[in-house]
Amino acid sequence: MRFKDIEGQEVLANRLTEIIDSGRVSHAQMFLGPTSSGSLALAIAYAQYLNCEHRQHYPEGSPLRADSCGECPSCRKYQELMHTDLHLVFPTATTATVTSKPCSEDFQEEFRQFLSDNRQLGTEDEWYAALGVDNKQGMIRERDADNIVRTLGLKAYEGGNKVLIVWMPERMNLSCANKLLKTLEEPAEKTLLLLVAESTDRMLQTILSRVQQTVVPDRNNDIDPERRTAMGAMFVSWMRLLFKLNMQQLSGWVDQMATLGREQQKQFLQYAQASLRACFLKTAAGYELTRELQFGDEKFDASFPAMITPNNVEQMMQAMNDALYAIERNAYAKITFMQLSFTLSKMIKKR
Ligand SMILES: [Zn+2]
Repeated sequence: MRFKDIEGQEVLANRLTEIIDSGRVSHAQMFLGPTSSGSLALAIAYAQYLNCEHRQHYPEGSPLRADSCGECPSCRKYQELMHTDLHLVFPTATTATVTSKPCSEDFQEEFRQFLSDNRQLGTEDEWYAALGVDNKQGMIRERDADNIVRTLGLKAYEGGNKVLIVWMPERMNLSCANKLLKTLEEPAEKTLLLLVAESTDRMLQTILSRVQQTVVPDRNNDIDPERRTAMGAMFVSWMRLLFKLNMQQLSGWVDQMATLGREQQKQFLQYAQASLRACFLKTAAGYELTRELQFGDEKFDASFPAMITPNNVEQMMQAMNDALYAIERNAYAKITFMQLSFTLSKMIKKR
């Protein structure tokens, strides 16, 4: 998987390649977001880029700053998900052929097929349907944990980085999670553990505290037009308030945001991130704002994108990521949005 094949995640892809290029790769990371956001695809693209022998870098202003080459021996194996140093762990259940103690090793072929059939965007339910166990809840069990511990303890076969991707780690049972915890405490050299989760609700705090988290924003494909218009209006008034910093009006806006449910707050932040990304692409590369991302306010559409520049776009995205993470963890919405507003207000003036 190359980053260019994951639509609508350029900003995050750029942050990920930058981290790898700068050598600041953390050995245990979590990609958090619905599978439809491309979280699993991003994790695989990330691992492929890390191991690519001819990383490509593109001219400034390109939507993607860099990508894997797709052609070196490592990339070729990654494209097929057949690299000997790439290990995939995922929830499984008993089937007609595997009747007891199922584990990921038993279904590697099926899982690869499932990933390629669904462009790595398939949901958990779709996976169970592909396995033919529609009404069972899959799990990641002790046998998987033993494999993880053994795999991470071995040297990489091909001299690069060994990567272990756990999809839906929230399905780990307790003894599996505890075993995993041990490997997080004593990481082996040149091994990378990538957890790709949809929610942190069911995960051990001790695991969460040991992994670096990246919230993967939704790709904004499936928001109904009415809701998009409402979010557009909300975004426009927010951005204007960040310039004015009129406290009374800003706290009115925050109160309104706090009345929305957690999912809607997350959706709004993801919408805001997608909007900033579109603005930045317009500023940096002359891309026209896509119709979906026009805000429905002519004056704002014309003047706002220029405020989002290479000097502030990354920091603003990160601040929104932090807020998404806080909301995911049930932080108090009013405080989260108020703090975010102050932070963004400083950054937006820094253009
Ligand atoms: Zn390559």
